Amino acid sequence: MGNETTWDIETDILVVGSGAGALTAAVTAAVHHASVLVIEKSDQFGGTSATSGGALWVPASRQALAAGAQDTPEEGFAYIKALTGHAVADDRIWAYVKQGPAMLDFLERATSLKFTPIPYTDYHAELPGGKLGYRTHDCNQIDAAGLGADFDRMRATHPSAMLFGVIPWTMYESAQMITQMPGWQKTLAKVVWRYASDIPQRLRGPRSRFLVFGNALVGRLKLALNEKSVPLQLNCGLTSLIVQNGRVVGANATRHGATLRIAARRGIILGAGGFERDGTLRAANLPPPTSTDWSASQPYNTGDCLTAAQNIGAATDLLNEAWWAPVIKVADEPRARPLFYERALPGCIMVNSAGRRYMNEAASYHVAGKRMIEDDSPDAGTAPSWVIFDARFRGLYPMGPVMPKIPDWMHRRAVRDLLVQAGTVAELAAQLKLPPAALTETVEKFNASAKRGEDPEFGRGHQAYDRYYGDARVQPNPNLYPLEKPPFYALPVYPGDIGTKGGILTDANAQALGHDHRPIAGLYAIGNTAASVMGASYPGAGATLGPAMTFGYVAARHAVGVNE
Ligand code: FAD
Repeated sequence: MGNETTWDIETDILVVGSGAGALTAAVTAAVHHASVLVIEKSDQFGGTSATSGGALWVPASRQALAAGAQDTPEEGFAYIKALTGHAVADDRIWAYVKQGPAMLDFLERATSLKFTPIPYTDYHAELPGGKLGYRTHDCNQIDAAGLGADFDRMRATHPSAMLFGVIPWTMYESAQMITQMPGWQKTLAKVVWRYASDIPQRLRGPRSRFLVFGNALVGRLKLALNEKSVPLQLNCGLTSLIVQNGRVVGANATRHGATLRIAARRGIILGAGGFERDGTLRAANLPPPTSTDWSASQPYNTGDCLTAAQNIGAATDLLNEAWWAPVIKVADEPRARPLFYERALPGCIMVNSAGRRYMNEAASYHVAGKRMIEDDSPDAGTAPSWVIFDARFRGLYPMGPVMPKIPDWMHRRAVRDLLVQAGTVAELAAQLKLPPAALTETVEKFNASAKRGEDPEFGRGHQAYDRYYGDARVQPNPNLYPLEKPPFYALPVYPGDIGTKGGILTDANAQALGHDHRPIAGLYAIGNTAASVMGASYPGAGATLGPAMTFGYVAARHAVGVNE
């Protein structure tokens, strides 16, 4: 199928995409003395990874054990197994729990990254092997000055991962402020001052030079690649794979309209995200209701590598799954805003078009987003659902783009246009075209039990993860408070995602598998280009990047022939 005499570029390892998994693969291969080329379709590197919270979920890391956490790979395995059942091969799960800690250690040696385990509870801590913290890891902050010209070439943080959509905060600072733990006002002042006092950068634009989360993670990985002189070619998208004698030996890519034939002597690692931004692939694979508008991912993940791999006979799995999330779509923003934590705060509920609650609003965004899809019906539509809150909530807590303490008129027009308000619950229902009697009854019923700290219908506040984003000052249940103080507010919420999680089926070495479940020589898939090792589940914060980076590390080592 290919003609080896006409290569435009030759390299040992071709890494496709520039998210955290892809860059981890590139660093790993480069450390092992392979020549590496990274190609990225868009004009900025980092993918959704750079724009993300940058958290990594890895059970039983050395860093966590050193900090005193009680955890073992066996417990990590048991927990993932409890969540995935028979959806994922055991050897892939073992590869993840064994290689995840090794990947963190490797990156601490090979780059300037340092990982800190944080007391962030697993999303299903009650299951066998579940933990109340220290599996989610945060990485060290970096000053943008250290990145030089790469700062502008790296995709910026998603607004939903920053204070007021623009001010970076660390994992601890955000949790402290959102749930208003003791000392939150001091932290707020510090975070705002850190941002405002960088006068030269403020004159340049709104983006902060204090980089945390995915920007710090990807930024430090890119620095390591620079040190190893690994080229990262922007505006260069893979279009197809080239097979010779049953082995993937290269790829075609387009760059500024021209086709490049790239030879990869030791392997191609596909880390080009999912297909969440392609309407046709969504409609063909994801359950309805679905829309590209409801994805919080950056816009370039259109499943190109999935299609290219399918075209040469790669098997796929989990194509009907995503990392789901309830989202708010602000008209003038290119990406939806996930409601990661707001739904757990006391004094809000979410209802369908029948004016009825239909879930524990404090469940993880994945569980809540999936529930929105599963519960959609002609008589009780969930797209949109409405998140309803009162004046007390409005004054205390954020809800998507609507910020507490900031009056309505100070919000952008596009945000104000979304926020519906009324003097009574019945009037609010009328504005939302929901049945007023049903919504009034829903709120009254919720209020009556919330006063006792109970949610007999959905058990909100019963699980450890529910309470993580509760307000500890609200007792007996930090997730429940009645909605009583007018005006009453509503925002439309859609069943969105932060990326798809179905893709190319891989083995424990991250090798792509054919329909006969045998490895396709020379081809690897990682991150959201691969079918997730987490099956249809979402175990905890960082469970997408943890595997993306771990299997990036695993794939590169396999491709360059490192066994230890
Ligand atoms: P990406 O990081 O999106 O990288 C894919 C790259 O491939 C993109 O740059 C894309 O342009 C490029 N590409 C696409 N097609 C081609 C092609 N044909 N050729 C070359 N390049 C191509 N997950 C966590 O684990 N922890 C978190 O804290 C977290 N926080 C999040 C916060 C937000 C606001 C959002 C939206 C998501 C968050 N996620 C988090 C999810 C996580 O960011 C994604 O699941 C993850 O980044 C996917 O990684 P990836 O490498 O598969 O894709």
